[in-house]
Amino acid sequence: DALRSLVESRIRDVQDFPTPGILFKDIGPLLADPEAFAAIVADGARRHTGRVDFVAGIEARGFIFGAGLAHAMGVGFIPVRKAGKLPGPTVEVSYDLEYGQARIAVQEGAVAPGSRIVVVDDVLATGGTAAAACALLELVGAEIVGLDVVMELAALGGRSALVGREVYSLTVA
Ligand code: 5GP
Repeated sequence: DALRSLVESRIRDVQDFPTPGILFKDIGPLLADPEAFAAIVADGARRHTGRVDFVAGIEARGFIFGAGLAHAMGVGFIPVRKAGKLPGPTVEVSYDLEYGQARIAVQEGAVAPGSRIVVVDDVLATGGTAAAACALLELVGAEIVGLDVVMELAALGGRSALVGREVYSLTVA
């Protein structure tokens, strides 16, 4: 549809970034287009008709779309950050990357038990980051409503890391 085509036209393919062999989807042009950004946020706000208590955004680009969605829905925003960035006490989980491990954190007490949370990121690739973010939020008592991403890289199979979760991607590449 129109929103999908608009969003696709504002995402730029960058070869060999951040390392050789990687085709990176650059959302810079999308953020620079106020109509496209507003339409993405409005689409998310319209889709979530059930009770939502918070939107959580995954560092760093998930903060941008997530904060927009939280504002549009009139709910609070929770940053899921790389470990070491948030003042404590924090709750953290580690997850595997292609090479090595990563660790993400939320502040203890940021989420009241039973809170219903929509998790937002820009791109779903292997799904490792989003799966870890959902697991972390569940660890602190949240109920995950679903994961919203602007673009899903289907060939990387992210959905298999998120089996049983509601995953919505505006565009699929
Ligand atoms: P995953 O854990 O699913 O493999 O990687 C997803 C995370 O890496 C997301 O937080 C996303 O921002 C980032 N990411 C991976 N590939 C891309 C890409 O091609 N473009 C952008 N903008 N982000 C990416």
